[in-house]
Amino acid sequence: MRSAPPKIHPANTRFAAIILAVTAAGIAATVFFFNPSAHKFYPVCQFHRLTGLNCPSCGMTRALYALLHGNFSTALRDNALLVFGLAAAALRGIWFGVKKTGGEFFPTRWLLPLVLVGIIFAVLRNLPAFAFLSP
Ligand SMILES: [Zn+2]
Repeated sequence: MRSAPPKIHPANTRFAAIILAVTAAGIAATVFFFNPSAHKFYPVCQFHRLTGLNCPSCGMTRALYALLHGNFSTALRDNALLVFGLAAAALRGIWFGVKKTGGEFFPTRWLLPLVLVGIIFAVLRNLPAFAFLSP
């Protein structure tokens, strides 16, 4: 028998949103002031290091740096998945904020389709015909 998941108290949701926002702002500030192409303290993708192939997140830090500096085309070239993912998350946030019907910001039924999008993106960006998707 399946029971309903526990309800999260609204105060805890607000606290989690604040922690998430502060973390995102810290990451954005770090990437904004320290160019990933010029500083070596950023983590290296172990999948790429071991296989030579690009994973779905390869180039995301450089894409974020480009986006934060207004270089949209460079961001798209470095990691299109990040650009479209951030746009989708922003649209979802706006829709979620305007609608105010409650519910989940990220329903679990979306997880499998998003994982599939990531896998398809990873496969395509490693094919010669889709080299434009590689960083
Ligand atoms: Zn990678």
